[in-house]
Amino acid sequence: MQDTLRITEVFYSLQGETRTAGLPTVFVRLTGCPLRCQYCDSAYAFSGGTLRTLDSLLEQVASYRPRYVCVTGGEPLAQPNVIPLLKQLCDAGYEVSLETSGSMDISAVDERVSRVVDLKTPGSAEVHRNRYENIELLTANDQVKFVLCSREDYDWAVSKLTQYGLDKRAGEVLFSPSHHELNVTDLADWIVADNLPVRLQMQLHKLLWNDEPGR
Ligand code: SF4
Repeated sequence: MQDTLRITEVFYSLQGETRTAGLPTVFVRLTGCPLRCQYCDSAYAFSGGTLRTLDSLLEQVASYRPRYVCVTGGEPLAQPNVIPLLKQLCDAGYEVSLETSGSMDISAVDERVSRVVDLKTPGSAEVHRNRYENIELLTANDQVKFVLCSREDYDWAVSKLTQYGLDKRAGEVLFSPSHHELNVTDLADWIVADNLPVRLQMQLHKLLWNDEPGR
């Protein structure tokens, strides 16, 4: 089917992460991911889902009358039809973000979309999947995210931040602790001690709702 996407869920909630944290946002979660990060909290999106037409998705998104739309997964870029979906969401006037693992080419994504690109750390168990060619494509409208599992991951992230000048390329560099693995206060102290040009990211949805799917 040419104009369909496999979708796990569509829901309206508060954005828990990134530079629009705290803002009401529609989430469109695509099914499927080629990665297996050891801390993944979206494993329920690896399979199943429902085939939906782009038109039906646009109609459902519009029904919430949102300002912000976040396309997430899984790995949204694993389904080619996400590219026209993102364009049509932008055309409809929403502020659109895309959350991607960083393992797939981001070049075809509409430039109006804020691409939130992960750099997978050694602690994720998927560090070998990083597509470093994406870094050259980043603009001030984009965000780079590190999920950190340990002090070793933190040191690794700081080395990538410095090596690629990520804070100069992207609008935001986000450091997020892996839930249950890294103490957020420790991470905050390290960021201040090192005077890093990054934003500490708490997962607001986990504080509010303990990360129930669909909230
Ligand atoms: S890229 Fe995201 S959805 Fe895929 S395994 Fe990693 S954390 Fe889970």
